[in-house]
Amino acid sequence: MSQRFIVVGGGMIGLASALGLRQQGHRVTLIEQGKAPTYSDELELRVSAIAHHSRALLTELGVWQQLPADRLGPYTAMEVWDQDSFGRIAFAANEVNQADLGAIVENRVLERHLWQAAVDAGVELMPETAVQDHGLSDTEVWVEAGGQRLRGDYLLAADGVKSPLRQAAGLPLTFWDYQQQGCVAVIRCSEPHNGCARQVFLPSGPVAWLPLADPHHVSLVWSADSELARQLQQLDDNDFIKQLQRVSDQCLGQLELVSQRGYFPLRMQYAKRWLQQRLLLIGDAAHSIHPLAGQGANLGFGDVHALLAVTASEFGSADLRQWERQRKVAAVQMIATMESFKRGFGTASPVAKLVRGLGLRLADRLAPLKRKLIKSALG
Ligand SMILES: Cc1cc2nc3c(=O)[nH]c(=O)nc-3n(C[C@H](O)[C@H](O)[C@H](O)COP(=O)(O)OP(=O)(O)OC[C@H]3O[C@@H](n4cnc5c(N)ncnc54)[C@H](O)[C@@H]3O)c2cc1C
Repeated sequence: MSQRFIVVGGGMIGLASALGLRQQGHRVTLIEQGKAPTYSDELELRVSAIAHHSRALLTELGVWQQLPADRLGPYTAMEVWDQDSFGRIAFAANEVNQADLGAIVENRVLERHLWQAAVDAGVELMPETAVQDHGLSDTEVWVEAGGQRLRGDYLLAADGVKSPLRQAAGLPLTFWDYQQQGCVAVIRCSEPHNGCARQVFLPSGPVAWLPLADPHHVSLVWSADSELARQLQQLDDNDFIKQLQRVSDQCLGQLELVSQRGYFPLRMQYAKRWLQQRLLLIGDAAHSIHPLAGQGANLGFGDVHALLAVTASEFGSADLRQWERQRKVAAVQMIATMESFKRGFGTASPVAKLVRGLGLRLADRLAPLKRKLIKSALG
């Protein structure tokens, strides 16, 4: 039976949920406080490494096919090394019989195409509208937004890491601050990136170079301890690039900054409950993780995929509880993996450096272990 959903938040996860629900025949209204997403010829600062399972969902939704090829950076290899030891590991897609390991997509480009598909599918979209109030009961939900009171059967909070809906509903959080900021920028490199996603671990945090469609452009994600991040913010572009060049081990030749720089606080958090009466948390509203393995949005797309499996047929609160349990396990596993990576690499202890150096070298040489690592990198 068709239900009425109100989705709050027009990021990638809210839009994918709204579109999928609408395609199943549900009535859907999406409320977004910002403008409808657009993009220009200029490369966007925020990108995501989209894993195979997310691409499969976006293909099923009919959106992946619409993305312009010149804004997609499929990556066929990954190289990860430790600046402080001899540890290095390199993966290639052909080692697991795949054409690529995933693709780098600018968030805005994906959001724009999801938005358009949602319009075409008949989702009622309300841009530039913030939620003022909401109410829940065991039988319905209501939301006050843009001077209207909307009623529905379910309320989906896809309103991001600060999730005003989660806060208003008083759903408790587990969190810790990584005491790091993620600096993002677009970099032109004199050497071609050859479709390789590179990441170096420094004692102050990992620095990633993600290949964009142009062979000489990469997207930088520099996760830096708060003090270093503060210093980086104060540098002018020339000094910033000198610092970046220094940590790059010359892996991409001469680097040039071709965008502004953006800074994002990095925090791990997950909500202890994702379901309250008829309110569901999804995407970053439910969980956020360190960007070092580029899995935050992928985890959110996993939530959407699992939710659509529930809403495809008649469902009730027990099915939603099952969805919540299943996705919480996936989120906690991902958080634990990120944490072990971060702790393993974030220490300056000489013994730890030796162990991780040996571990990476060994993993690089043992084909079955390496295949396992590649599969976990694929998400
Ligand atoms: C530096 C960095 C790099 C990253 N790299 C990757 C990567 O490579 N791969 C990956 O998978 N993930 C990555 N992530 C994580 C990824 O960006 C997020 O997981 C993803 O964007 C979350 O999407 P979302 O739709 O849940 O939330 P958001 O994108 O935050 O969207 C929430 C939306 O809700 C709207 N909203 C909020 N409150 C209201 C309200 N009251 N009323 C109406 N609208 C409201 C906001 O305007 C916003 O549009 C990275 C994150 C960071 C910080």
